[in-house]
Amino acid sequence: MPEKSFLVQKFAKLGFGPLHIIGYSVAGEETVVQVPELNVCFDIGRAPYFALTSDYICLSHAHMDHLAGLGYYLSQRHFQGMKPGTIFLPRELERPVDALLRCWRDVERQGTPFKLVPMSGGQLFEVRRDFGIRAFATHHGGASLGYALISIREKLKLEYAGIPGPELAKMRKSGVEIQYRVEVPLIAFLGDTTAGSVFDDPDVQNAQVLITECTFFDADHRSKAKAGRHLHLDALVEILPKLKNENIVIAHVSRRTGIRRARHLLRKKIGDEQMKRITFLMDLEDARDEGEVEELAPPPPENVE
Ligand SMILES: [Zn+2]
Ligand SMILES: [Zn+2]
Repeated sequence: MPEKSFLVQKFAKLGFGPLHIIGYSVAGEETVVQVPELNVCFDIGRAPYFALTSDYICLSHAHMDHLAGLGYYLSQRHFQGMKPGTIFLPRELERPVDALLRCWRDVERQGTPFKLVPMSGGQLFEVRRDFGIRAFATHHGGASLGYALISIREKLKLEYAGIPGPELAKMRKSGVEIQYRVEVPLIAFLGDTTAGSVFDDPDVQNAQVLITECTFFDADHRSKAKAGRHLHLDALVEILPKLKNENIVIAHVSRRTGIRRARHLLRKKIGDEQMKRITFLMDLEDARDEGEVEELAPPPPENVE
């Protein structure tokens, strides 16, 4: 029998059409979710090797399981001659995170460059002409944001359909607005949050893929969910009917509940049909039954997750 090792960490890889999600997310331990095709990583966790390749990091909030690896990410990229990482973060966190990263420069005696982009709910940052990142407020106590990756397109207005290209070009030159803007939310990531108005946000409701937390599933964990401002299964079940997402990925499940048990409890409440659009991020191909995985990890923390 092969020896169990603390050094092996398995990551999830899910495919949704042309986009992939690579990540790891366990409450209180580590959350890092990358979309390689869009050059974005949501939270940085402990900065696993794959996350170094993302030029854009969207930080949801300041709990250590979500941003511990930030200094390492920036330092490694600098060390390896990559361009400085761009970090989106809640506006309230700009000052302390800036101080933290400057402190690391002194500690490490390396002038690691970084770029912080403070964000507020509703703010859109246009990365390219056809792609942007929009922040939305979440409910986790303190400063917290979720992010949506938005495809931006210009489309020809219906009334100009059928007009030949050269003529359209002429109209455009003379100042006629022949196009309109279409924004399509591709992927939305909530970070940590309890129930609230975030689930009425159009980007959250309509993203092709929604990555939501659901930390607690067992009936006797309701008070933990409330205290930590996390989602409990009961709240998720109430929210699901208003979500129009083709795919919903559940992350940040507590180690107190194994993934198979969590999936079983959800299926019991919503049925097989609704389960079709739901994936648990950490439902790794060879995920073991509850009990075995827990042997490999320290006990779950009592408070901050
Ligand atoms: Zn967390
Ligand atoms: Zn948290």
